[in-house]
Amino acid sequence: MNTLHLYLQNLDHNYRQIRKKIQPNTLCIGVVKANAYGTEFIHFAKRLVELGVDTLAVAYTEEGVQLRKEGIKIPIMVFYPQKNSLEALIESNLEPCLYSKHLLLSFEILLNEKKIENYPIHIKYNTGLNRVGFPFDEVNWILDKISLPCFNLKTVYSHLAASEEKRPSLLCDKQIQRFKKIKEQHSKKNEAPPKFHLLNSSGIFNYPEFQFDAVRCGIAFHGFANHPDWDKLLKPVAQLETIITQIHDVMKGESVGYDHGWKAPKQVRIASLPLGHADGIGRHFGNQSSSVIIHGQEAPIVGNVCMDMLMVDVSEISCEEGDKVNLFGPLRSASEFAVNGGSISYEVLAGLGSRIKRVIHF
Ligand SMILES: *Cc1c(COP(=O)(O)O)cnc(C)c1O
Repeated sequence: MNTLHLYLQNLDHNYRQIRKKIQPNTLCIGVVKANAYGTEFIHFAKRLVELGVDTLAVAYTEEGVQLRKEGIKIPIMVFYPQKNSLEALIESNLEPCLYSKHLLLSFEILLNEKKIENYPIHIKYNTGLNRVGFPFDEVNWILDKISLPCFNLKTVYSHLAASEEKRPSLLCDKQIQRFKKIKEQHSKKNEAPPKFHLLNSSGIFNYPEFQFDAVRCGIAFHGFANHPDWDKLLKPVAQLETIITQIHDVMKGESVGYDHGWKAPKQVRIASLPLGHADGIGRHFGNQSSSVIIHGQEAPIVGNVCMDMLMVDVSEISCEEGDKVNLFGPLRSASEFAVNGGSISYEVLAGLGSRIKRVIHF
């Protein structure tokens, strides 16, 4: 019924495009958090390993544990490990990104208890996003700590708050300056300095000169880089397909859906599709803000989206019950679908529910 087709050859293409944007010796960190942005992270991760990413990254420990269970051997960074998951993190040989004193001190105690030395870690600085990270003026505290024998500091990084913003961006420029200073301080202190990285997908396109030693790429592997010019260089991996469950003739003046969300201005044909909130199609896509594609034609979503169904106006489209419908596919990407509902590709993909069948095309 509902199928998310994943075309891994498009992932290959996107990987090659990203490699073209970065230097041969720049490391590529493949971000596969949140089930590879709501798609299917085991196959996605395995393909990225085959393609040659140096490291994978997830958000939480549990995601890394799953990747290890699937036999992934390459380094796995955990961006947002929580204190109560550090033991599991060590057991699965995952690499924590330490972002606060509280977390770093907890990890230090744990390593000492276990008599572990030289454990690979990453340090995240907050240079202006104000989400997680050590304050950028706490480098000296970090420098003291990371000289402890329990730690092996592999990389130091920060995250831009508006990497897709048209240059010059005051915010990004400020962050870049702060990060450069952090890099200087770390490089002075360490005999073998760690590696440094700052850029996510749109950063790779917008600030290639600040790629430092590595880039962290997530959404671009799915075919999006937050700007139409950069999206053009990439190919969407995911296509969401459904079918028409039922078609009704609705008389002029009748309403469609809950809370009489939409009133038929004339006699119309309404098709009901088996997708709703539970599948990740939010209320904001209803009431003609977005549409679906049937036989190459756009059919607006009318009325409020329901839990399991949504309704579209097919008055102008010749179609039958059981016909195929695309929410995003060859004619329109997830990003374009998202925009009309006031959303973004990240949210649409990551929100896709587990009822939708994933079909991998190798
Ligand atoms: C999710 C995430 C990324 C990847 O961002 P994209 O825009 O998807 O490339 C990079 N770095 C951090 C810290 C992240 O949380």
